[in-house]
Amino acid sequence: MITYGSIDPYTGEVWGEAPDASLADVDAAVARARAALVGPWGALTGTERARLMRRLAAVLERDAAELAEVESRDNGKLLREMAGQTAYLPEWLYYFAGLADKIEGRVIPTDKPGYLVYTRREPVGVVVAIVPWNSPLLLLMWKLAPALAAGCTVIVKPSEHTPMSALALEERVREAGFPVGVVQVLTSSSAAVPEALVAHPGVDKVAFTGSTATGIAVAKSAAEHLGRTTLELGGKSAQVVFPDADLDAVVNGVLAGIFAAGGQTCMAGSRLLVHDEVHDELVSRVVKRAQSIQLGDPRDPATEMGPVATRAQLEVVLRHIRDAVTEGGQLACGGKQPEASGLFVEPTVVTGVSPGMRLWQEEVFGPVLAVGRFADEDEAVALANDSRYGLAAGIWTSDVRRAHRVAQRLRAGMVWINAYRTVSPAAPFGGVGHSGWGRESGIEALDAYLETKTVWVELTGATRDPFVVG
Ligand code: NAD
Repeated sequence: MITYGSIDPYTGEVWGEAPDASLADVDAAVARARAALVGPWGALTGTERARLMRRLAAVLERDAAELAEVESRDNGKLLREMAGQTAYLPEWLYYFAGLADKIEGRVIPTDKPGYLVYTRREPVGVVVAIVPWNSPLLLLMWKLAPALAAGCTVIVKPSEHTPMSALALEERVREAGFPVGVVQVLTSSSAAVPEALVAHPGVDKVAFTGSTATGIAVAKSAAEHLGRTTLELGGKSAQVVFPDADLDAVVNGVLAGIFAAGGQTCMAGSRLLVHDEVHDELVSRVVKRAQSIQLGDPRDPATEMGPVATRAQLEVVLRHIRDAVTEGGQLACGGKQPEASGLFVEPTVVTGVSPGMRLWQEEVFGPVLAVGRFADEDEAVALANDSRYGLAAGIWTSDVRRAHRVAQRLRAGMVWINAYRTVSPAAPFGGVGHSGWGRESGIEALDAYLETKTVWVELTGATRDPFVVG
């Protein structure tokens, strides 16, 4: 078996070896997934699938700390952030296991009394789940749990940068007793393998999380064989701060939005739009807090921000900062690699950012906050919506009417009011525009893994005219 090394972004050393799948492995995995679907897995009831899912949840609960170590080594994010995510994984399995035995059709009263008409909800089939490096297991679980509940089989393709945790999960799927072929992991150092998976006519659906550019390529390729897709893509989400907001809470929410996770999260609150009246006060408070953020070893509990995940990503982040300054933005803090170097970037705040600038329009995927200002509610909404993305938004105000009014007007899949970056297995997650289509989590997520079959039963035994539609 050919393998490749997975690098720890903090030490720069190879710390794990993952199989480097071939195109032959792709064909074999699709064939196994199909065999499981029409074989032992397809024969299970929802109750039985739910039982296996709960067993897997218990195994993951037991091993959450170990899995967090793997995640942190692979992507360089804080151990405490990753531990929070791995401890939360079982909740998705419990939530969707609770739905697995409640997948019901409908009996439909039609205009034709001589027929019984009902629907069945059936699994879409073989699913490919492609996930990025920033939250590998959590984003995978958002796909895996509803797919298993629906009765699909899943081929997982983790990011080439973070292959190790999906492999660790695969072992635990085996331990939980799932039939062979239900969940398979293909790790690969090249894009050829995910490209082949997406294009494979034996794949019924691709559930993708990643960048918008790759998402568009995935949608086009899958469409060639009419494969279904759900796409969770990038974002440039706005946090809108009105003058009546509790500024201490806002500072905390801004930090959670852009500096937690080193900004390496799709739902980063990367644009801060502040009312003129509180702009200077808020910026100075955010800058003060940003400058006190502890950079360091992701495994040290005192660390607040780890390194950027890859050298290429570091270059992207630094380029965005340089461009913003060239285009007229003012650096309020940060902007450099700190002395100690490694793959770190200082928490960075750029003020005076406006819609014509790249920092306003483009996702950085790093700890860079773009700050703009507004004079009234209409301008705030117009500025927040001035983006091709539409993943998330935050509204900060103590006026309950304004909060809901603005929430209605924002073009985003998710809006937090006086909060930021909270998720739940029960709450739909996803975006509009270039942030993608489809929803993960919540009851809606199950629909993405189900097809509706309509069954007609003739009740009278009468002979009908075969040349007239009945
Ligand atoms: P990426 O698009 O480079 O890669 C994502 C995955 O796609 C990886 O597993 C990669 O191997 C695979 N891939 C690469 N080329 C492919 C191809 N041609 N066909 C199919 N798959 C291919 O993204 P990334 O850099 O790993 O992740 C960062 C991006 O992910 C950011 O844009 C971020 O906003 C987005 N993201 C979105 C969400 C969300 O839920 N909306 C969550 C996290 C990250």
